Amino acid sequence: MMEKELSFEQGPIRPPNEARSLLLRVTRNCPWNQCLFCPVYKGRKFSLRTVEEIKKDIQTARDISDDIKALSWKLGARGSIDDQVVSHIFGSSSYSDSYRSIAAWLYYGTGACFLQDADNLVMKTKNLVDVLEFLKEKFPDITRITTYSRSRTIVRKSLESLKQIRKAGLDRIHIGLESGYDPLLKLVKKGVTAAQHITAGRNVIEAGIELSEYVMPGLGGQEMWREHAVETARVLNQINPHFIRLRSLRVPSRVPLFEKLKDGTFTMQTDDRLAEEIRVFVENLEGITSTVTSDHIMNLLEEVTGKMPEDKEKMLDVVRAYQELPKSERLIYRVGRRGGAYRSTDDLKHDPVTYEKIKNLMQEVKTKEGTQGVEKFIADMVDRYI
Ligand code: SF4
Repeated sequence: MMEKELSFEQGPIRPPNEARSLLLRVTRNCPWNQCLFCPVYKGRKFSLRTVEEIKKDIQTARDISDDIKALSWKLGARGSIDDQVVSHIFGSSSYSDSYRSIAAWLYYGTGACFLQDADNLVMKTKNLVDVLEFLKEKFPDITRITTYSRSRTIVRKSLESLKQIRKAGLDRIHIGLESGYDPLLKLVKKGVTAAQHITAGRNVIEAGIELSEYVMPGLGGQEMWREHAVETARVLNQINPHFIRLRSLRVPSRVPLFEKLKDGTFTMQTDDRLAEEIRVFVENLEGITSTVTSDHIMNLLEEVTGKMPEDKEKMLDVVRAYQELPKSERLIYRVGRRGGAYRSTDDLKHDPVTYEKIKNLMQEVKTKEGTQGVEKFIADMVDRYI
């Protein structure tokens, strides 16, 4: 094999804030794989990878990294991974995707590593510890190691095991909490209870690991939205995670929840109702010091972000600013946001050209296809991101 073809395995997804992290696949797919709203691993079988396989991948990542550094010297960049080195690698089809991935990681210089796929704490503690120690040994400059896991898996680990995993180098766990409302968790087959979410979250924190909890606005539909908002806040208040991340529900036709949409037993929240749901959720966050983020492209209000408790009012103001817009402007904002033109309701004022363009476009769609056509137009824009 030519050196440039060296490769290691990577999985399909990572959290948005890990876009510039080194991605290493430790397990494949999801051991649960039943959540009705989740499209990611459907039709794919979960498997553990052996410690030897994973170590081999880490060694390959190390070799590629060294090779790229050597290339940098050859190109006169004195070991730094700059535009020239990255263009050289991305401009030649002879380099494998793994080379591109490591080159981008070195270029951004985050030093962060994300272990894929959905639930790596499902590994035996001693195996995960072995992998983490090897990773630290091969990449001593790594600044942060994070992974996804599930509350259901974490509650089965002893606190002692979690502490060993922390000591071996795991800095942060991302958990898909989604909701704190038991009837909803059951309905969407999350396979976990609110009480388990609380125990898992608290144990992670007690072990000294940073905790990032993902919440899914919209998951309660129009049927359970209020309970979803209030109970999710209540559960988070009892955990006090380091991060609360909002990632709004979308229902592409390939997820099982789509069937419930079709048969009318589940009704999607409209954007306006979703704004109210988020307002109720934030309103009910109490006594915590978490950082809230809405960095997912599917969120309507990206600026619902800040540190609790001091930024709570600021976050509520973001929602209110949207709610106080005239209906016609809310529509323009929704289209602009989904199309990537707007990041804030303030942008409506600052860019009259985009404003007029969207207004005219929506007028056209409405004339041809009515209000439903407008809603479909916006939904299609959002679904491009799934
Ligand atoms: S546990 Fe996570 S990855 Fe697995 S099916 Fe549920 S949402 Fe998807």
